[in-house]
Amino acid sequence: MSSMGPEPLADGFGRVHRDLRISVTDRCNFRCSYCMPAEGLDWLPRHEVLSYEEITRVARLCVERFGFDGIRLTGGEPTLRADLPRLVAQLSGLGVDLALTTNGTTLRSGAAELRAAGLTRINISCDSLRPDRFATITRRDDLDRVLDGIDAALDAGLSPVKINVVAMRGVNDDELLDFVQFGRDKGVTIRFIEFMPLDAQGEWSNDKVLSRDEIIATIDARFPLEAVEAQGSAPAERWRHRDGAGEIGVIASVTHAFCDTCDRVRLTADGMLRHCLFATRELDLRSLLRGGANDDTIAAAIRAEVGAKWAGHQINRVHFIRPARSMSQIGG
Ligand code: SF4
Repeated sequence: MSSMGPEPLADGFGRVHRDLRISVTDRCNFRCSYCMPAEGLDWLPRHEVLSYEEITRVARLCVERFGFDGIRLTGGEPTLRADLPRLVAQLSGLGVDLALTTNGTTLRSGAAELRAAGLTRINISCDSLRPDRFATITRRDDLDRVLDGIDAALDAGLSPVKINVVAMRGVNDDELLDFVQFGRDKGVTIRFIEFMPLDAQGEWSNDKVLSRDEIIATIDARFPLEAVEAQGSAPAERWRHRDGAGEIGVIASVTHAFCDTCDRVRLTADGMLRHCLFATRELDLRSLLRGGANDDTIAAAIRAEVGAKWAGHQINRVHFIRPARSMSQIGG
């Protein structure tokens, strides 16, 4: 950090990184079929998981040294981590835009406390509005708790509240309009996410991907849409309803990759820094944190790792290599 303050964290393609995604746990109370097997995964031993103080130190360095202005907490299911509001309070003290991605099951009891601790906005994952199908996808009969969690987030004053829907051909592609209607009725933003090759079982295939263009064409035919001018590096492309009843978003990672404006790095629950969701390498920050490294050394290591960032994922290209970790072991 120069006497003049933070120095931007740019990679070799000139992309300046400002957004830190932090996975606070690899554990989850769901077993979503597009993420992990029914029996779950071998969870990280507790001693390998970063403490809240270690997480906050990395976040503080990113804010103070590189000028990061956004943090998103993810998992696994982040709200399973004990005393999460304490971490939220520590991170909100850094003055950044703080968000959380959750499956919503604990929000009726926890949303207000997270809000009071400094959380501002939230994304809640929900891939079906039909109880039977929800139970098939997540292997949990918890749709009611998730829907109640959405109401709890709204009641707590979190805003915006966005609903993440992984759109999968032959699974929930017949619910696009139901979700849009749900969003219009509740005043929440539905974000459809193209299915990505990050499932632990390795069963992803391109024919299961419902593309952005298919999603938009289906919705526009029933609910006329107009595109919203892209702002910054947010992954979702946005469309507003022509009748003014809100917006929808699509994260088109597979068919319309947005890597050229990527500003994100990820910290895994066990302290590895990943410069890309699909990275096939990572920086062991935990060893630096626990090995007595000072802030300059850690900041230099982060800068070197991001400096080596590739242009983007190679999905559907011959040299695409699946990352060794699945989505729940990286964080969204
Ligand atoms: S795939 Fe990697 S480079 Fe592309 S947007 Fe996602 S994190 Fe960024």
